[in-house]
Amino acid sequence: MFNTGCLSDIQVQPSSAIPLAQAQKVAFLDRDGVINRAPDKGRYVLHWRQFQFADGALDMLKALANKGYRLVVVTNQQGVGKGLMDAAALAAVHRNLCAASAAQGAPMDAVFSCPHLAVQDCACRKPKPGLIHEALRRLPYSVDLSKSWMIGDSARDIEAGAAAGLRTLLLGMAAGLAVEPDAVAANAHAVARLL
Ligand SMILES: [Mg+2]
Ligand SMILES: [Zn+2]
Repeated sequence: MFNTGCLSDIQVQPSSAIPLAQAQKVAFLDRDGVINRAPDKGRYVLHWRQFQFADGALDMLKALANKGYRLVVVTNQQGVGKGLMDAAALAAVHRNLCAASAAQGAPMDAVFSCPHLAVQDCACRKPKPGLIHEALRRLPYSVDLSKSWMIGDSARDIEAGAAAGLRTLLLGMAAGLAVEPDAVAANAHAVARLL
């Protein structure tokens, strides 16, 4: 069924200067290939010690936070469905990610994960927008879609973001784009300048 992964990671900063009564602008971020170096195809980050931040990713996150974007991760993690890791192990990776990002001045509000196999045809696996819809329901603030972005490195991220009504930014190059992204960034350093 619909498993949203590590919702326990929701960490809205109570000290935030942004009044949460207002609709927020959010940077929804894919994880693998955007925040961390993507593992080889068919492989997964099973432990935090395998997690390597992508070049410029922490600076990108900090720049987005400084521009007033709230940070929310939406990630397909089929390794759970394959039995290579369990939900608790995935949540542990994401707790470490949230802590490391916050320590760099880029606190994340939440990580939403789809643990299902592609063949399960769930509602949450990107390119479907279900994970983003779940985030919109569960985040403790409303989201200003017109000012919010989906940032990803694959066609399915762009498709999911567009289907959810977000603006979309493609990081790098992706094959098989069914939907044109609203912006394209050659590398992580260029992302925050475009938003
Ligand atoms: Mg990716
Ligand atoms: Zn799913």
